Amino acid sequence: MKKTASALALPWQAALISVALAASGGLAGAQPAQTSPPTAQRGLPSLGDAGEMTPLLERKLGDVIIGDFYRDPDYLDDPVLSEYVNGIMRALLAGARAGGDLPPELDEGYAWQVLIGRDSAINAFSLPGGYFGLYTGMIGIVNSRDELAAVMAHELGHVTQRHVARMIGQQSRQAPLLLGALLAGIIAATRNPAAGAAMLVGGQAAGIQQQLNYSRDMEREADRIGYDIDTQAGFAPNGFAAMFEAMQKAQRLTDSDDWPYLRSHPLTVQRIADMRQRQGVANGSPASDPQTLLIAARARVLSRPGVDTLRQWAYAPQSPGFAQQPALQRATALYTAAMAQAQLHDLARAQRNAADLAPLVADDPRAARQARLLQADLALQAGQPQRVLALLPEAPQGAADDPPGKANPPGPADRPRSQAGRPELLLRAQALLATGDAAQAASSLQSWLADHPRDAGVWQQLAAVWAAQGQTLRNLRAEGQARLAQMDLQGAIDRFRAAQDYSRQHPGGSADLIEASIIDTRMRETQAALRQQKKDEEQWK
Ligand SMILES: [Zn+2]
Repeated sequence: MKKTASALALPWQAALISVALAASGGLAGAQPAQTSPPTAQRGLPSLGDAGEMTPLLERKLGDVIIGDFYRDPDYLDDPVLSEYVNGIMRALLAGARAGGDLPPELDEGYAWQVLIGRDSAINAFSLPGGYFGLYTGMIGIVNSRDELAAVMAHELGHVTQRHVARMIGQQSRQAPLLLGALLAGIIAATRNPAAGAAMLVGGQAAGIQQQLNYSRDMEREADRIGYDIDTQAGFAPNGFAAMFEAMQKAQRLTDSDDWPYLRSHPLTVQRIADMRQRQGVANGSPASDPQTLLIAARARVLSRPGVDTLRQWAYAPQSPGFAQQPALQRATALYTAAMAQAQLHDLARAQRNAADLAPLVADDPRAARQARLLQADLALQAGQPQRVLALLPEAPQGAADDPPGKANPPGPADRPRSQAGRPELLLRAQALLATGDAAQAASSLQSWLADHPRDAGVWQQLAAVWAAQGQTLRNLRAEGQARLAQMDLQGAIDRFRAAQDYSRQHPGGSADLIEASIIDTRMRETQAALRQQKKDEEQWK
């Protein structure tokens, strides 16, 4: 119960909650529909159907909500997990595009970003505007890309079918509401999650819980569309049923209330039967793939399982009979142990386990890469930057990556990639900085940003490089860009203003003049964006 209450208080879930709140009387009660219709007063149409919630409006709403997600302490900016889940999402988008399931208006106008929440609950959800949330708990139970792809395809199905907009439309027909009241409710609840939770506790919790969920028809539609997208993208067709079966099995084993996804998807048994039928002979589970087993282990450790569990994982490789276990099982245990030991600050032991892991996955390029990234990460934490550079000699290529928010995905059936990507970029930059080669660190980060200008994590790393070099102006600009990429417009403006002040007090050479003029431009753009956002919100009130 406690878990449920705290989960409801998180902005991660607040968007859908507050849609329900607004529709079920929280806001409507304050403005009874019988009295002077606010519609006429405000000059806004009352909401009839999804059509009035345009994709542009949905994206704007998503941008506002996502700004709060980025600032949530449970937002997890892990380059390895982020690359993995966003790679799957891009493969799904390519499948949707190929199968005609992705209207160009949404394709071009939506953000298509997956954000990860550090939470052991098994949950995944979609938000307005093409943003998705995925908890580490969900990543932690998968054995193959196909399984995670199934859940993400289902969520993508909700988005391509515009279920949020349709849900708002349907509920507002039952109790006519202003579009503005709904959006204000969503924004208020995401800005002040505690208030949203208090309103829930206040009364109609059961009714709200019910309205939180998409309708059964919407769930069936998301299954159907999601299944098409999933298979068009080349993922194994039995991933869908396998994933729901895995969730049910895990739920029986754990006996906890960490299962919001199953709560919001109660048709599981019927759905599994339907899916199995649709798939005909494709019974069983997709083969587990070594990379995913390591990724899932990483997600489990990063879910903050508590010190006792970390200790248990840390010493698992020393247990009797370990050497007789299958190689893949040992590899997963060693990765888990190394991650857990790093969390427990026993880096020497962590590095030994990571070294033992490497030969076990050497014949699988993706898993071998994950093992190498783990070794490099541990070396960096242990203060061995030269070792990081020896492990990751390759300079990342902008085109060969899976960064958040970019097209051009590797399909699930593509050749295993050994090329360096974003995790390598960030680890190498930190190692270069530590060895005193800040110039090379800056140049690799800058060339990445030329291709991925909205990559907040890389901007933040660049800011650290500039700070270490005493480049205050550039540091402030990079920090401002990082805020901007996370939809923190006011935060960005504050940084750009600090940069302008600094520039006035410290007139420098021509390089600084160019930098100052870029900062002026960014400042103007960001101020205009913030004015527009305030204007939109004013209209939504
Ligand atoms: Zn669903």
